[in-house]
Amino acid sequence: MRKNYYIFNPDTRTYERVYPNLAQRFLTALRRALLFIIFGAGSFLVFHIFVDKPSVEQLENENSQILAQYEILSKRLDNAMLVLQDIQQRDDNLYRVMLDAEPISADVRNAGYGGTNRYDELLKMDNSELLVETTQKIDLLEKQLYMQIKSFDEIVALDKDSKTRLRHTPAIQPIANRDLKRTASGYGYRIDPVYNVRTFHKGMDFSCDKKTPIYATADGVVESAKWMSGYGYTVIIDHGYGYKTLYAHLLDKKFLVKKGQKVVRGEQIALSGNSGKSTGPHLHYEVIVKGNHVNPINYYFMDLDADGYDQMLQMAENHGKIYD
Ligand SMILES: [Zn+2]
Repeated sequence: MRKNYYIFNPDTRTYERVYPNLAQRFLTALRRALLFIIFGAGSFLVFHIFVDKPSVEQLENENSQILAQYEILSKRLDNAMLVLQDIQQRDDNLYRVMLDAEPISADVRNAGYGGTNRYDELLKMDNSELLVETTQKIDLLEKQLYMQIKSFDEIVALDKDSKTRLRHTPAIQPIANRDLKRTASGYGYRIDPVYNVRTFHKGMDFSCDKKTPIYATADGVVESAKWMSGYGYTVIIDHGYGYKTLYAHLLDKKFLVKKGQKVVRGEQIALSGNSGKSTGPHLHYEVIVKGNHVNPINYYFMDLDADGYDQMLQMAENHGKIYD
């Protein structure tokens, strides 16, 4: 507000208003302008030095850069997820199949975190969609990686177990190839050589000389080594994992093992003979899985290649001489 100036006039004894001249007015205005400029500059300096706030433009720039980085991270997460999916598929379709293990169900692999308020904090922010999406991807990746590590732990354990299991699975012929004679009779229905009726032959006959070494076909424990009706002198080995093998018509009382003895694959257990219901020297060999007789032809995989297998199949067809 403009000030008014008065001066006392002793002649009239009154106060008379004084009007400033142009120069005085100019000086006043100048003074005010200077004060204003100094104050303004000072405030600006104080702000600039002590507060130093970035401009809106700067912030917008940074924001868009951060967003761009987020987009890139999000895409990289997608790629990481693809790599993980590839590993998961190998896990289910290769490792687990090889080790005879169930694949991990999609439910377990993709199980969510549950609860809908997990991302509430993020939803309050600008660009919340991108933030939530990226965070969800990281969460999912973390969870699935954890599941994958657990799966591999399990596979390592299974693999160790499968090596033991393999040692206890019948996998070779009970007679060396060089000792095999021309014929062997296979598993299945055939005419009984003694009673001349169609019966089921539960094992495989290996034609060989008397006193041919007979070998355990897998690691195990001798369940029995004794005379058995029809089978003659017979060794039964329990291999565990549900497997048993039986070796019959052995040489009279010439067992090389006794009940309860541990044996390993390839260890000699007896000599071939002609004891029991038999029409000539041979070994009758059975493979029993969980109480059921199976075709021994499927259990020579460690010493037969494809050709040997074909040969063995031909020999084991019903054409071969049957000894029972
Ligand atoms: Zn037989």
